[in-house]
Amino acid sequence: MKSKETICVQGGWQPTKGEPRVLPIYQSTTFKYDTSEQMADLFDLKASGYFYTRLQNPTNDAVAAKITELEGGVAGMLTSSGQAASFYAIFNICEAGDHFVSASSIYGGTYNLFAVTMKKLGIEVTFVDADASEEEISKAFRPNTKALFGETIANPVLSVLDIEKFARIAHSHGVPLIVDNTFPTPINCRPIDFGADIVTHSTTKYMDGHATSVGGCIVDSGNFDWEAYADRFKGLTQPDPSYHGLAYTKAFGKGAYITKATAQLMRDFGAIQSPQNAFLLNLGLETLHLRVPRHCENALRVAEYLEQDARVAWVNYSGLKSSRYYDLAQKQFTNGQSCGVVTFGLKGGRDVAIRFMDSLKLAAIVTHVADARTCVLHPASHTHRQLSDQQLIEAGVQPDLIRFSVGLENADDIISDIEQALGK
Ligand SMILES: *Cc1c(COP(=O)(O)O)cnc(C)c1O
Repeated sequence: MKSKETICVQGGWQPTKGEPRVLPIYQSTTFKYDTSEQMADLFDLKASGYFYTRLQNPTNDAVAAKITELEGGVAGMLTSSGQAASFYAIFNICEAGDHFVSASSIYGGTYNLFAVTMKKLGIEVTFVDADASEEEISKAFRPNTKALFGETIANPVLSVLDIEKFARIAHSHGVPLIVDNTFPTPINCRPIDFGADIVTHSTTKYMDGHATSVGGCIVDSGNFDWEAYADRFKGLTQPDPSYHGLAYTKAFGKGAYITKATAQLMRDFGAIQSPQNAFLLNLGLETLHLRVPRHCENALRVAEYLEQDARVAWVNYSGLKSSRYYDLAQKQFTNGQSCGVVTFGLKGGRDVAIRFMDSLKLAAIVTHVADARTCVLHPASHTHRQLSDQQLIEAGVQPDLIRFSVGLENADDIISDIEQALGK
């Protein structure tokens, strides 16, 4: 097995003699064939090849292959955004009348997708406290439950998911575990190693790393045995009338899940990543192994600084010994490193938080998170603005919570900026 560093730099695109050393942007909607029959075989999924970029594009596939290798999966696909990845990951195995279970501490956009939009499609979700016992979480499962979902490190709550526990629960109910691994990236954690079956990403964050391109990715471990629960996952195991009766598990084996997501969901919904964005994402991935540890070193410095300051009410960072997730982070993450995001509250609460943020100079107030530039957000005033204080607490977001995304600048400069803003 190649090391992560080598995969980051050289994975995916494998040029042969005379081909470009650097991954080219295949900025083409269509691909040429010599005979009508060659094209027909592609439409029947009898042959593999490119024909229309809404379904597949060589630039995208090379980048998906790199991320798949980093995550230790067997097949992967890029999507236009992290939201599209979360939607496809669930919708590929759930339809109207089905149900799935999700950790309640997840990204706000994913929460809304699951609770509101998927419900309109007839798919129901039950949210569970990810820190609850296996018995407690198991109570949420029903005969029509098709998946369990969680985030390795929840944005913005920063709770750490016990992936082995979640995998045991999912598998004891005969459903796959889907994990959003956006915050740690495969540099710090490979959920598949702990039993996850499918991994999703918002590549918009650390993977891109430069805040240039919105994107997403789905990786399948190939480990879940759909055929063992053939009646539960008919969409994968029974003939697909929209492909002349082809059954994905029989035709594609371990590639069934991703092939179905490409052949059906990309075909019908079309949330493809542009090849231009995939090219930029690949540039980000080439340095992911260098950037992520530096984000984490800087974040730990910031968290330690905040923890010793009397004006700070609380700090949450799994790299701190005071964190309830410290031991789990040590076990699950490379060198115990989680991500570059730190959350904290200031004495004086909400109003003081806003004054503090307005006083920052180096750290910018932006909706984004997890890129090279330090940035800050107050979820109660911004992303979660529509929620009351009571609803915020139910969602695990304290009203005074400041989400501080530590960038790649010099840590002393970042801390000086915090220092001068706290002074105000
Ligand atoms: C940002 C984010 C998403 C959504 O991704 P987009 O690329 O913005 O659509 C999903 N999950 C997590 C953990 C995120 O941080």
